[in-house]
Amino acid sequence: MATPKKNLYGLSLEELQEVLIAEGEKPFRAKQIYAWLYAHKVTEIQAMTNLSKDLRARLEAGYVIEPPRVAARHVSSDGSVKYVFDAGEGRQVEAVYMPMEKGITLCLSSQVGCAQDCSFCMTAQMGFIRNLSPGEIVGQAAVITQEKAVDGPFNLVMMGMGEPLLNLQNLIKALDIFTHKLGFDLSPKRITVSTSGHVRNLEKLGEYPKLPRIAVSLNATTDEVRNEIMPVNLKWNIRELIDACKRLPISQRDRITFEYVLLEGVNDTPADARRLVRLVSNIRCKVNIIPFNEMEGLDYKQPDLETIERFRQALNKSGILNTVRWSKGRDVGAACGQLATPVAKRGAHLREKLHV
Ligand code: SF4
Repeated sequence: MATPKKNLYGLSLEELQEVLIAEGEKPFRAKQIYAWLYAHKVTEIQAMTNLSKDLRARLEAGYVIEPPRVAARHVSSDGSVKYVFDAGEGRQVEAVYMPMEKGITLCLSSQVGCAQDCSFCMTAQMGFIRNLSPGEIVGQAAVITQEKAVDGPFNLVMMGMGEPLLNLQNLIKALDIFTHKLGFDLSPKRITVSTSGHVRNLEKLGEYPKLPRIAVSLNATTDEVRNEIMPVNLKWNIRELIDACKRLPISQRDRITFEYVLLEGVNDTPADARRLVRLVSNIRCKVNIIPFNEMEGLDYKQPDLETIERFRQALNKSGILNTVRWSKGRDVGAACGQLATPVAKRGAHLREKLHV
């Protein structure tokens, strides 16, 4: 049986150099291939026209260029598109294209499923299947930007399926490709990595020289509630998470984003707002208030508009920069926390426990 061809897509500059050395070529050619793959986004080795015919033929004998394959697209009435990518073995991951006022934002996945088990999130119900490779992470952006003819810089948020910091090595390889001059050439400021609060790996990411923007999914102001809705809190509690955020080497002009999914009767009271202010007031930050997207399979509710406004006003009064973020793509299951298939109801027990 013939040996299967290897995929060049997702290889770093150093890994491409190794491929060339194995072919008896000068390693500097790796830069040319790297630019073809990630800046020009070619999917045929023959399209790399500044390589000799002989080298192209030898590469073709052993390699292919295979970014992830789109299995389905769901177009929302608000212009966003949920892309479903084939992840092999009958699994899929999802990414979302979002046209925003200030340009294009892509929301990418980092894992198939997720182990973090946040109780308000559909992805959690899939459990953890596997990490995505660097090529599978970068490829989501390459395929979408090609298809949508995105010309010029765009914004990336690692907020799709998975906890990016539990796939740190591949995430960093993907960030290298996104930010490399010969790759996507994106400023790290255009990239946001969101975490549920994996403190150890947040500290490791803090050592990365091209530190992206950081979003922390906080969602509660007491350990009692956060333990229930985000089990990662049992390992690193709110105080440890906030302290880790304070230690991050964020530039003077940048801010950490705290995501706060507002769940009726769980984390939306005036006391929650006051505690939130106390938690974040010594950090250069902004708070994204995300009214929960109600969906079948999750038994949480979105607070009414008055409650949302009251919560927001409490932050405003204390000078905490904030926005209320209404998720895009709700009608096609592309909104925050919706990236998976419904399987069970959760949430009711927590409201019960909190006497709502
Ligand atoms: S909210 Fe994020 S970290 Fe939590 S289960 Fe969902 S995908 Fe995982």
